[in-house]
Amino acid sequence: MSESASPYTYPQEFDVIVVGGGHAGTEAALAAARMGSKTLLLTHNIETLGQMSCNPSIGGIGKGHLVKEVDALGGAMGLAADESGIQFRTLNSSKGPAVRATRAQADRVLYKAAVRRMLENQPNLWLFQQAVDDLMLEGDKVVGAVTQVGIRFRSRTVVLTAGTFLDGRIHVGLNNYQAGRAGDPPAVSLSARLKELQLPQGRLKTGTPPRLDGRSIDFSKCTEQPGDGTPGGDNPDNLPVFSFMGNRAMHPRQISCWITHTNTTTHDIIRSGFDRSPMFTGKIEGVGPRYCPSVEDKINRFADKDSHQIFLEPEGLTTHEVYPNGISTSLPFDVQYALVRSMPGLENAHIIRPGYAIEYDYYDPRALKNSFETRQIQGLFFAGQINGTTGYEEAAAQGLFAGLNAALHAQDKEAWLPRRDEAYLGVLVDDLITKGVTEPYRMFTSRAEFRLQLREDNADLRLTESGRRLGLVDDARWDAFCRKRDAIDAEAARLKATWVTPRTVSKQESERVLGKAMEHEYNLFDLLRRPAVTYKALMGMQAEADAKVQIASPAVSCETLADLYEPVVEQIEIVAKYSGYIDRQKEEVEKSLHFENLLLPEDLDYNQVAALSFEVRQKLTKHRPQTLGQASRISGITPAAVSLLLIHLKKMG
Ligand code: FAD
Repeated sequence: MSESASPYTYPQEFDVIVVGGGHAGTEAALAAARMGSKTLLLTHNIETLGQMSCNPSIGGIGKGHLVKEVDALGGAMGLAADESGIQFRTLNSSKGPAVRATRAQADRVLYKAAVRRMLENQPNLWLFQQAVDDLMLEGDKVVGAVTQVGIRFRSRTVVLTAGTFLDGRIHVGLNNYQAGRAGDPPAVSLSARLKELQLPQGRLKTGTPPRLDGRSIDFSKCTEQPGDGTPGGDNPDNLPVFSFMGNRAMHPRQISCWITHTNTTTHDIIRSGFDRSPMFTGKIEGVGPRYCPSVEDKINRFADKDSHQIFLEPEGLTTHEVYPNGISTSLPFDVQYALVRSMPGLENAHIIRPGYAIEYDYYDPRALKNSFETRQIQGLFFAGQINGTTGYEEAAAQGLFAGLNAALHAQDKEAWLPRRDEAYLGVLVDDLITKGVTEPYRMFTSRAEFRLQLREDNADLRLTESGRRLGLVDDARWDAFCRKRDAIDAEAARLKATWVTPRTVSKQESERVLGKAMEHEYNLFDLLRRPAVTYKALMGMQAEADAKVQIASPAVSCETLADLYEPVVEQIEIVAKYSGYIDRQKEEVEKSLHFENLLLPEDLDYNQVAALSFEVRQKLTKHRPQTLGQASRISGITPAAVSLLLIHLKKMG
């Protein structure tokens, strides 16, 4: 709190206070308010609600899955991406459905506007612009937050989503200064207060590239990359949509991205700056994301490569600003200037904003309960970058999770905990609280052992019913979901009950659809299991069969479902073709569930567990896992140790 701050207690009390209006904070506040909790969103600046600190893009592999899950639970990110996406792509479109992922290049102004509109129109939600400098505690319980000018807001719970702002420090070459991100103040007092509370904490770093003025780029020297749904795109006829409530008409004008590349001159320029790099000279201590490295890190680690692709991504429809994806850097500005100008098309590029790295405090997520409430302070929840993650999508998913659990806590209800086989959200939460982080954590499909059933396409079928029960899903979404779910069930049942025989299908038609003459009778669902058989081809076969046996009114196909045709057919085809694998995965899930959910008493004395090694005892005592499943995923906890724990639990009765 500033020295001149005079205490004033705000007259109304809240159920949930969310600190921070980034991707975690906005989803947290919206979720709590949707559930009927009286919610206050306190943030530095109303103008930066939903701001994208780095590249203006939403989704990608693993991340798109999280966006769809947030959306299935009534969240904002998918709809905001649909309203602001200026280039959409389905990544991995030629691979299996589990790893297909949606990515949208967003107009950052339109994205922010969409998020702000949703916040301003959300009942039960109040916005307030002011830095939070302190938390109000009574014993080991949080009871509110105090702003920079001494306004005390009382609340039953507080969700902290401070992003990269806690004691943030920006580095450009050997120069550095305190900031939350470029152009925004750091949260220094709050950082000091949290350190005083002795919550386990560390430092991480992330970085961003210089931004370029598109008018100074010669795009004729670059390769155009049109999006899906536009001529020349990988899937010209299929413009993706993020939200289950979204549609193509919501998308603004679609435009292309461009590709250039680094070369040996670029790499020489970058190496010439190593002696003034804050990373290589030890000025930055925080660990950065290994899979999203700065360009200097790439040149240093992959010295044998003499070129890297750089994607030139427009930041919006009403700006010339371009984001050069692939040259995130904290090298001195003169090196940034020269390295940018060494690439084809960028010879005269003007830099609008320098690239930089930022170091910030994060809190060890192993100190959180599985609801994201801190173990140390009752009612205090953490979500987003503060938990050691990176990425808007990871932040949004955590925000929604912490917000809904804070609302449940305020209503004295049990926490909601999605399992690893139910949602990427379950994987994210479980990974963080059991394994912690050694570098900024981002989502990958490889993190999910049950990924065959955790697909983007079925996120609503996995989560919307839970969302409805929790009060997160409004009537419009619920009605649309029920229509879709019922249509899928009805069509699958119809296919299973519809039979075709060699008598009713001509040899020619059978060869067209199946590649050979039909030998037996089949139901249509079984035929759809075959890899090369499509739903559309089957409907042709059925029409022929119906005509042959002169069915006056053939069974209704989902051609009549209009807007539901695509999603229903997609779901039915995936379920039919992958049902063998999916069923096997379900069996595995069922087998593991019993042990997974076995609760470990909070006061369990691991020294009393016979035959456990000293190291395992120490680890379990430190992490205090809440279930046997969590214990099994802590690094260094072997299957043998899990068996010993199980025997001990059985003995305890
Ligand atoms: P933020 O989006 O940082 O939002 C935090 C919010 O809290 C802000 O609104 C802030 O004003 C507010 N706040 C903070 N402290 C207080 C306080 N005391 N009082 C009131 N309000 C407060 N992600 C990627 O996936 N890939 C990248 O390459 C990438 N690069 C990045 C580069 C940079 C330079 C930065 C800054 C971030 C980068 N990110 C990247 C990360 C991405 O921006 C974050 O993961 C994401 O924004 C985190 O969301 P959040 O809601 O946790 O925090």
